[in-house]
Amino acid sequence: MAMLSFDIRELETRAVQVDGTLNADDPIWEPGDAVPSDTIRVTGRLSPAGADRFYWHGHIAGTAVVPCRRCLTDTPAPVEDEAHLIFAVAGSEDADDPDVYTFGPRDKNLDLRPVVRELWLLNAPAYVLCRDDCKGLCPTCGADLNAGPCGCSPAGDTRWDALRKLDPSPKS
Ligand SMILES: [Zn+2]
Ligand SMILES: [Zn+2]
Repeated sequence: MAMLSFDIRELETRAVQVDGTLNADDPIWEPGDAVPSDTIRVTGRLSPAGADRFYWHGHIAGTAVVPCRRCLTDTPAPVEDEAHLIFAVAGSEDADDPDVYTFGPRDKNLDLRPVVRELWLLNAPAYVLCRDDCKGLCPTCGADLNAGPCGCSPAGDTRWDALRKLDPSPKS
């Protein structure tokens, strides 16, 4: 059980605690999504906010795995966000507001998973650095320069830079 689904009739009478997880293998994810490395922790409070209207004040936290912008190594990156969201029944006045999430008039449960997915994708970075001093890939042969010089390019050789400084080549 995802535990991110809440009985709407119950919600109309009282606020509930949100404390669940969204797993990387949940069917809510679509191909190409930057899925979490394992699970996203989803917490907070879901409260009634008028007729057919609910308010979620909560928090999501997890770890995304994204490629290093220099060497492309898969790198864990923490992802967190606060949620202050209104849910309203489809067809209501509020439902036209693009900041309001909707549920169907015959829905028995309010499912937070689509919203958690959206918050996650908005906050997951596209690229990170695997470490601050990542040397990246050799532009010539593609070798990972973090593993040592590849031999085909002087780019990583500081002695070469020193020579260039002493004897700058003419501007073309
Ligand atoms: Zn890197
Ligand atoms: Zn190389």
